[in-house]
Formats: sequence, C-alpha cells, structure tokens
Amino acid sequence: MPLSANNTDRHSWLKVPENSDFPIQNIPFGVFLTRDDIITIGTRIGDTAIDLGALHQLGYFKGIDLTDDIFLQDTLNDFIADGRKTWRLVRNRVSEIFMIDNPALRDHEEHKKRVLFAMDEIEMQLPVDVGDYTDFYASKEHATNVGSLFRDPENALLPNWLHIPIGYHGRSSSIIPSGTAIHRPVGQTKPGDDGIPGFGPSKLLDFELEMAFITTASNKLGKRIPIDEAEDYIFGLVLFNDWSARDIQAWEYVPLGPFLGKNFASTISPWIVTLDALEPFRVSGPEQQPKPLPYLQQRGNKNFDIKLQAVIQPEGKEESVVCNSNFKFMYWSMAQQLTHHTVNGCNVRSGDMMGSGTISGPTKDSYGSMLELSWRGQNPVSLSDGSTRKFIEDGDTVILRGYCKNDEVRIGFGDCSGKVLPSNTL
Ligand code: MN
Repeated sequence: MPLSANNTDRHSWLKVPENSDFPIQNIPFGVFLTRDDIITIGTRIGDTAIDLGALHQLGYFKGIDLTDDIFLQDTLNDFIADGRKTWRLVRNRVSEIFMIDNPALRDHEEHKKRVLFAMDEIEMQLPVDVGDYTDFYASKEHATNVGSLFRDPENALLPNWLHIPIGYHGRSSSIIPSGTAIHRPVGQTKPGDDGIPGFGPSKLLDFELEMAFITTASNKLGKRIPIDEAEDYIFGLVLFNDWSARDIQAWEYVPLGPFLGKNFASTISPWIVTLDALEPFRVSGPEQQPKPLPYLQQRGNKNFDIKLQAVIQPEGKEESVVCNSNFKFMYWSMAQQLTHHTVNGCNVRSGDMMGSGTISGPTKDSYGSMLELSWRGQNPVSLSDGSTRKFIEDGDTVILRGYCKNDEVRIGFGDCSGKVLPSNTL
C-alpha cells in the first residue's frame, strides 16, 4: 500500500510553523483530554491538535473498515491491534483531509469547531496502556562506557553482548507522559566501612536518552517473529527518558540486574511517530562483527537517522544542551530486538513498549546519560547559567528532543520533559 501521506509536495491548510516537528507528512498518534473534558484519540499538524474521534463521527473515514468507537477510547491499543494496513489507510486519509486544496473540512466552520484544538486547550495523556515494557541495552558505545565505569575497562563488553540484543523486563506502571514531575527516589545504597547500607534520597539521579518502539499484537505464545517480518509489527516510536538512580542501581544490580534504581519513573513523549513516517530516514547502521546468528541477520537499511538531544533546564534558568546523539548509532536494530524477544516463543501484545537502552554515540558530547557525560562525576558538565552538574539536581527539568531532517521535510517527536522534585520523605 502506498504511503501517500509521506509525499513531500503536500502542504496543509493548517498553519505549520517553520521547523515544526509536525508537518502534514508526520501525522503521529496520541491521546488527549479536550477542553470539554473528553478523552479522545488524535493527531497533530503544526500546533493544532485534531480529534480523530470527532472526524470519524462526522464521516471523514468512510470506506475504511473501522469500528464506530475506535477513536473514542482512552488508549491507542485497539487501533494499534487493527494492524499496519489500517494505520496506513488512516494516515493517508488524514493527509488528504488536511491537504491545502481539499475544501471538505477546510471550509466547514462547524465541523472545524468540533475537530480542531489549539495545543494549549488540550492535555496530552499516555498514548497506550503499556502491558509490558522491556528495556534493551543496544548501544555499543553505552554498554562499553558503563562496563568500563561499573566493572573493568579491559573487558568492558561482556562476551554475550555482540551476539545477543541484551535486555531486561522493566516496569510499565511508572511510565508517564511528558510534563509529569517526578520525585527523587529513596533507596538503599552500598555500605560504607561499617557494613550497613546507606538509606535515603538518591544522590546520583540520572537520565537515560532512549527511544522506545510500540508494538502491535505480534505472535501467539510459542510462535516467534522472523526477522524479515519484525517491522510489520512495529507501530511507531516515542522519546524515552529511563530515569535511573545510579547509587541504588550499583548496590542492587548483582546478580539479577536493574530493579528499584530504574522502576520509579520513565518519561515518554506523548505523540507516537509511526515507523511509516520515518521511512525516508533509513540508514544502514553500524557493521555487525562478528556476524549475528542467522535468525538475527537483517537485510537492508535497518537503522533510522534521528537526531537526538538531551537538555537540562535548572529551575528558573535557561536550557543547556548536554548531549547530541543519534538513533542511527544503535548496534542492534528494533527488528533484531523484537525478533530476539520472541525467539523463545514469548508473546508480544498490542501496546507493549521496547526501550532501546541509552543511545550514546562515539564522541564525548554524544553520551546519553550523566553517568557517561560526567564520567561518574569526575568531569562535571558546565551549564550555561555558570553552574555545573555531575548528576541531576532537585528543580532541574530534563528535556529530550528528537527529529529527522532532509532537504524536503522535518519529522520530529516534540518534547519529552520531566522536572525533578525533592524526595517525598515521610
Ligand atoms: Mn535504560
């Protein structure tokens, strides 16, 4: 099916500011609360939110096989479960409705009142009910840096890393939408000389610059997804800040891996940008040496060129960019991750979320966490207000941004933002 929504010669009758993340070629999906306190599924062009539930009720999706209430829901799970063909039909239709020379909605003032909202009139919600969340560890640079810092610079990558997309099962209940503040977590830390563990607010609170992909129902229990089909089951991506308490993590992680150092909060950007919209930005990705086992061998351009940025904004101060990275640095692709996830027969459901792991690049300014940027506090990072950071302080807001750009179009994700409040100490 053609991806006509991606045509770069299309313009919208809705205003799209210069450098907007949301031209008519993006058409992401999200869930929002309207000014009338109604939750609906929607999309966005420029700075206008579009109520897909209202559009459907008004008959604009005629000819597409959709249930009446598919967009009148508080999550995208059912729509995502409808599969790739339906996502494409809907995205193509939305594009047509908002093309500059289509008068159907453009000239219908009454319909427009029901369908269109300014961004400041709505409140973005979590786009999916995340049943299961898995976090991978798929950036070679990040795994090498963390292996050097936590264990041994001589053997930074463990022997399995180049053969397996390493991951762990995370916690979905604490995934929150951009704009939600978090409290500094409290927990146990490594004992001092007296052998008694420390306890209190984390002193080493960190962000992790990640992306996450959202799946449709992919396979029944016991069946696996072949690598050549894996992308058919990926709906789209969001920015993902996997907040991490490094001092809690360092004490608890042996032998089973991350637990309370990671599961207190993960912030996502609220608009899911479809894999289809990212299609023009495919790139080859790093060469994999040694060659993965046959079930993980993927043909074609398996990575995406998405420029990524992490920003710290201290309370009442201006923003400072602390990291410039790129999704294309990922050693293991999304398809490889999903294929590996199901190779044992583990079933994946609609709305499941798969984090990439921290996306660090090869240069020191492209490291995707404070742990790496400050090299565990040895090299404090300077901010534009003159202060420095080893880790994240109370009152700081961390903002992740990401976009793709070529000569014709820019497709972005909007902000993934979260402010750190002091600990809840009872
Ligand atoms: Mn992570």
